[in-house]
Amino acid sequence: MTNQQNVVAVDVKSLGLRNLLPPVTKSLSPTELKMLFMKRFEAEKGDNKINGLVDSMRASSPTRIKSSSASIVHHPSALSMFEQIVGASKGKQIVMFLDYDGTLSPIVEDPDQAFMSTEMRAAVRDVARYFPTAIVTGRCRDKVYSFVKLPGLYYAGSHGMDIKGPSKRCKNKKANQGVLFQPASEFLPMIDEVYKALVEKTKSIGGAKVENNKFCVSVHFRRVDEKSWGALAEQVRSVLNQYPKLKLTQGRKVLEIRPTIKWDKGRALEFLLAALGYGNSNDVLPIYIGDDRTDEDAFKVLRDRGQGFGILVSKIPKETNASYTLQEPSEVKEFLRRLVDWKKICTRRRSSTLSCLDIYIDKKFEYHPPTCLIKEGGGI
Ligand SMILES: [Mg+2]
Repeated sequence: MTNQQNVVAVDVKSLGLRNLLPPVTKSLSPTELKMLFMKRFEAEKGDNKINGLVDSMRASSPTRIKSSSASIVHHPSALSMFEQIVGASKGKQIVMFLDYDGTLSPIVEDPDQAFMSTEMRAAVRDVARYFPTAIVTGRCRDKVYSFVKLPGLYYAGSHGMDIKGPSKRCKNKKANQGVLFQPASEFLPMIDEVYKALVEKTKSIGGAKVENNKFCVSVHFRRVDEKSWGALAEQVRSVLNQYPKLKLTQGRKVLEIRPTIKWDKGRALEFLLAALGYGNSNDVLPIYIGDDRTDEDAFKVLRDRGQGFGILVSKIPKETNASYTLQEPSEVKEFLRRLVDWKKICTRRRSSTLSCLDIYIDKKFEYHPPTCLIKEGGGI
């Protein structure tokens, strides 16, 4: 055995990497050996990252619905707890925050086809008549506006990085039309560059769709065969490695590339509450409804503030900071409609000695309007 071989044997053992060595056909110097180890180590680290990402993609995209019982036990339905929710709003202004995909619209194969129904649009429009209402989404603000088409709302696109108040066409004089906030504007050229690189890198992966959301980029893999998720993750990682100022997050069958700034849907919620004059107020009850991991930031803000309620839209039990659940967009619509019905009764109760909640409950089970609310000719 030569001295060099002795040195090699000691290095391998001390690093504990003997099994990782490829078969070597020639003697290596200690430096060459260390470089070999490092190369192998970096490659394994990269593989682990990709594997971790694919595992995470699977975890956020469950293919089987188990049981909704845990969801009901741990996070009760916002519909069955409706009276408690509106009861907590006594003396407070309800402010509504609504995610879009999977909350107001069904999740569909093609993200460009995620239209909301006419009935849902009517429900959102009616809610916005009574309560300040914001759409908070990962989508580009213009894109989500093209789906929602309601000028009287606040829109927070790109995960809250692009916030705008109601348009001038909105007749609501109280609406804060001046709100416009873009905390990541310096990232615009970088995001555009990354979008183009991702389109190029993923074009060979069938079903992958890259969406430019202005301040972030989404890579949808809903239509990608699961066998190709690893290849997709690798391509996304390879692009992202060139941009240390960007980070990767995940939604439902979507990878999202965002600036590393500390801004998310939770911060957007706080910003909007402040813009509405409720920054440090106890006279507000924010309600945030969303279905995604990125909505958890907003649920957490509400939990930390001890104010308002987060409502998770999900058919399956999930770890969440939300207080309640709704199973799907149709239940969101029902919740919004009930909120409007309840508010209408509240505004009509002027001469009633009953609380609007009493009347609402009465209406829900068997509606007998109090005589003080009956107009001549019927109706209330
Ligand atoms: Mg969503």
